[in-house]
Amino acid sequence: MDILVVGAGAMGSLYGGRLRESGYNVVLVDIWSQHIEAINANGLKIEGETGVQVISIPARFAHEVQEKADLLIVFTKTFHTEKALESVLHVLHDNTVTMTLQNGLGNIELLEKYFPRERIIVGTTNFPSDLVGPGYVRSLGAGETVIMQLDNCGINRVEAVNKILNDAGFNCKVTDNIYPFIWEKVAFNAAMNSLTAVTGLTVGQLGLSADGRNLAFQVADEVLNVAKSKGIVVNKEKVKEMMDEAFIKHFDHQPSMLQDLKAGKMTEIESINGAVVREAKKIGCAVPATEVLYKLVRVLEQSRENHTTRYISG
Ligand code: NAD
Repeated sequence: MDILVVGAGAMGSLYGGRLRESGYNVVLVDIWSQHIEAINANGLKIEGETGVQVISIPARFAHEVQEKADLLIVFTKTFHTEKALESVLHVLHDNTVTMTLQNGLGNIELLEKYFPRERIIVGTTNFPSDLVGPGYVRSLGAGETVIMQLDNCGINRVEAVNKILNDAGFNCKVTDNIYPFIWEKVAFNAAMNSLTAVTGLTVGQLGLSADGRNLAFQVADEVLNVAKSKGIVVNKEKVKEMMDEAFIKHFDHQPSMLQDLKAGKMTEIESINGAVVREAKKIGCAVPATEVLYKLVRVLEQSRENHTTRYISG
């Protein structure tokens, strides 16, 4: 199976690199020239629990890719998905399967604009990965990947993808109902990402404070209530356990939203807290803490934009 990964940052490099290592033909596509150059010149470095692995794998700009892809894995941040998809349409064929394991809400609807439901695979992953620098990612710890083919229509495509992900060590399982997994992940992220982003604290530091923990549980609870009102059967206890575990095991972790704010980059707040607030409004559900955090992160994003604009113009 020929695989194209579009968005070869922390997660795209991890998935693409490990798939390459297990023998698949993989091409990484990104727009970050230093990263592409570093991977092509020195190989992709993936740091794991057992050390640093150097993987020989081609990295390209989209316009350089000519080979047709059987599987397209989308791993950009959610606000870049559309542009990234547009850039690789020329290498897809009538049977290409597109998979997203991105966080947040709205990924399914976006892919549906481009592909029939029977060729879309949606999932979640809690494998961790951080970008250390060009050509270098760090992934400490294992996780789980859960996937679902949106529509079967008589052709099962998800089992083949399940196999390649398991071959590469991504501990994958297939479900016929991905929505609880998506919403439980969104609940976790809406709480942890936005709260660490606005406080500047690590996950563990947030958990040291009873107020911090309670606020995090409140946000998760609000998000899961929205899911429940939509008829999605979510497991509140499971999410609370995940959060309790994260407070301890990921004490020093700075979630991507905090890292992105610190780096002056756009965050995924719109597809996480923002999307929850919009869903809640549609069904008349109150999500006060989620909404305040949504607005606070936007304020922080905008203050950086304004700062940059003033800096450039002044
Ligand atoms: P990242 O910022 O490290 O990587 C995104 C990459 O996309 C970057 O290298 C960027 O240059 C590239 N990109 C941007 N626009 C592009 C375009 N038009 N064409 C091609 N490439 C483009 O992000 P990440 O941490 O890898 O996260 C990707 C997704 O996975 C997000 O939705 C995130 O929430 C989710 N996720 C991340 C983790 C994690 O631990 N990092 C875990 C689970 C899920």
